[in-house]
Amino acid sequence: MNARAGIDVAIVGGGIVGCACARAATRAGLRVAVFEAQRIGAGATAAGMGHLVTIDDDPAEFALARLSMRLWREWSGWESIERVGTGTLWLAETAAQRDAAHAKLARLSAAGLQADWLGPDALRSAEPRLARDLAGALRVAGDEVAFGPELAARLAADVRAGGGRIEEMAPVAALGDDGLLLADGTRVAAGHVLLAAGCDSVRLWPAGSPLTLRPRKGQLAITDRYPGYLRHALVELGYIAAAHGDDDESVAFNAQPRASGQVLLGSSRSYADATPEVDAALLARMVRRAQRFLPAVGELQMLRCWAGFRPATPDGRPIIGRIPGGGRGNQWVATGHEGLGLTTATGTASVWLDLLLGRSPEIDAAPYAPERFAEAAA
Ligand SMILES: Cc1cc2nc3c(=O)[nH]c(=O)nc-3n(C[C@H](O)[C@H](O)[C@H](O)COP(=O)(O)OP(=O)(O)OC[C@H]3O[C@@H](n4cnc5c(N)ncnc54)[C@H](O)[C@@H]3O)c2cc1C
Repeated sequence: MNARAGIDVAIVGGGIVGCACARAATRAGLRVAVFEAQRIGAGATAAGMGHLVTIDDDPAEFALARLSMRLWREWSGWESIERVGTGTLWLAETAAQRDAAHAKLARLSAAGLQADWLGPDALRSAEPRLARDLAGALRVAGDEVAFGPELAARLAADVRAGGGRIEEMAPVAALGDDGLLLADGTRVAAGHVLLAAGCDSVRLWPAGSPLTLRPRKGQLAITDRYPGYLRHALVELGYIAAAHGDDDESVAFNAQPRASGQVLLGSSRSYADATPEVDAALLARMVRRAQRFLPAVGELQMLRCWAGFRPATPDGRPIIGRIPGGGRGNQWVATGHEGLGLTTATGTASVWLDLLLGRSPEIDAAPYAPERFAEAAA
């Protein structure tokens, strides 16, 4: 590939996706510079729950999540990341959800993941604070809980250690044929440009080709420290339908034990609300939903609530590849990870880098091709 003025790839955005791509490119021997408008990991990456989870309901998403989980574990920094690794319990309320959980169990087992079904008694001893009337849970080992900003910062540290540049408080104003234009008027020459600006990617997307990305607001609440209150990441099975559904507003229960001993409660999804403030009525709905599964959760002291925006695409899959008609064919994009970007950042980086270097990605990249929206619009 062409090196220009010392930078092979200039990356817009220092969220988890930009940092993972920067690290992968640095490791491949490319000269990388990341330009971040604020601080590393300050966008959706800081707002997220940090559940690294192998979602399997869409085959393409499953392939990306599996690749990503493997790459997180192969990363030399992984062992020193603060995380809770007790796996996920997918909670079934009804017989229909129990059947869905068994189908999920079959898919995960066929793919070699470690998972098992817990009936009501086994569930009670695995997670004693859960409601007594649940139908059971699918337990998936291997999922973990980490802190998004720490992951991004550690990836960025690897980039610096490998000779790459990380520029904070450096907003990018435009992509060009030969690099970038920063908001302060500085031109940055680079052989390739990667747009990884999360929800803000739409602002820099070249005119004339569709980028279908919508911010999807989500709220979370975190409690004081209650070490041992939960032993697993908990997710209601209805969560997938809420995540993949197109409702203007939805709530689905999930809760995580944090390494600090705090309990993180989620979550909501809203296309309708573009304001950054926490919606108190929606928060109350989230807490009521949490009480359905954890009846005593209302006794915990809530410390803080916040909202963030997930970059969502119409088909729920990220956008990874060359920007159609972008520059001289040297403009790339990696965004649209909605509620799974902390998990799938490493796989995204691997797919993007293979495409950039003209190699065959480890998984089929077609489901993530940016052109798919143009084809859908035609
Ligand atoms: C409530 C909530 C819960 C979530 N829970 C989970 C979870 O449990 N598990 C999971 O895997 N994922 C989760 N996610 C999703 C995950 O957080 C996102 O998919 C992921 O962080 C997206 O990363 P990103 O790097 O694409 O975007 P961001 O983190 O938003 O990074 C983009 C960066 O680009 C910068 N930027 C924007 N414009 C410019 C510009 N012009 N110039 C330079 N820089 C610019 C921004 O400042 C930002 O730092 C959750 C998200 C939310 C909101």
